Amino acid sequence: MRNHDCVEGSCIYCALQDIFREFKESDENTLNPDMLRLTLACSFQDQDKFQLGQLDDAAECYEKILSRIHFHLSGGASDDFCSLGHCITHVKFAMSLIQQTLCQCSATSEPLPYVQLVDYVSTLSIMSAIECSKMMKTNDFSELLRYAFNYEMSSTCPLKCGLKSRTVRTLVNCPDVVSIGLIWNSDQPDPDHIREFVSTIGEHVTLHKVCFNTTESSVRELVGVVCYYFKHYSTFFKRSKDGRWISFDDASVSEIGDTWDKVIDKCCKGKYQPLLLIYQNKQAELINTKTAPKKTSFIVKCMCV
Ligand SMILES: [Zn+2]
Ligand SMILES: [Zn+2]
Ligand SMILES: [Zn+2]
Repeated sequence: MRNHDCVEGSCIYCALQDIFREFKESDENTLNPDMLRLTLACSFQDQDKFQLGQLDDAAECYEKILSRIHFHLSGGASDDFCSLGHCITHVKFAMSLIQQTLCQCSATSEPLPYVQLVDYVSTLSIMSAIECSKMMKTNDFSELLRYAFNYEMSSTCPLKCGLKSRTVRTLVNCPDVVSIGLIWNSDQPDPDHIREFVSTIGEHVTLHKVCFNTTESSVRELVGVVCYYFKHYSTFFKRSKDGRWISFDDASVSEIGDTWDKVIDKCCKGKYQPLLLIYQNKQAELINTKTAPKKTSFIVKCMCV
């Protein structure tokens, strides 16, 4: 999909297209991120985010880039409940959820629908899920995630009857890419804590175990991890053609092996804290471009490039 609403002079969609074109055609070992970096700095200058030389949150940056892809493809449609069949962001990445509290007294709260691009959970909640899982005799990462999400959602009976109630999340769609954001309570956690946590990360998640009511076959495979270490980001991605894990650390790109255990080792040795886990559907189909923009139109010129 080449056609889009283009921000002349500073367009994230154009910068992404350039990077993907280079990825396909270039013989270089590393891709040049300068254009994307500059357009990000320019696009978010008013919010003082992602400026050159400044360290911002990687998961937030990922989310903002996804939101911008929607913006460039949607012709101004709201991103709350986007139903455009060609919108990469919402078709491929967005989780449409309904949250509802159910009480033993049979009262239920109003269903709360919402859409999110990254599902955030704290590592502390996952660690307490691990403690409980020892009793539940499960080490299934999908179930640990569900427990951790439930742990974080307050559940009070809508009628305040005092009986036990629980809040459930129902996933309405089945996105091909599921992104889990991890929130740490320290930026220099104990190395044992990192080891214990990283070792529990599952190489697969099953969506109907993470949330309720998804009907399709919904296993997603871990393909990317964004980590943080002492004011620095480092990422690992699984190469699709041969399943080998590749480490990306600024301009240094290296193969680290064909098993997830190698990534775990690397994280533990380097004290890397995983911040974003990206899971992907290996059977994903191409997006339907029938409703895609038929021409590129130029909008609001950015003055800072
Ligand atoms: Zn553009
Ligand atoms: Zn959209
Ligand atoms: Zn009640």
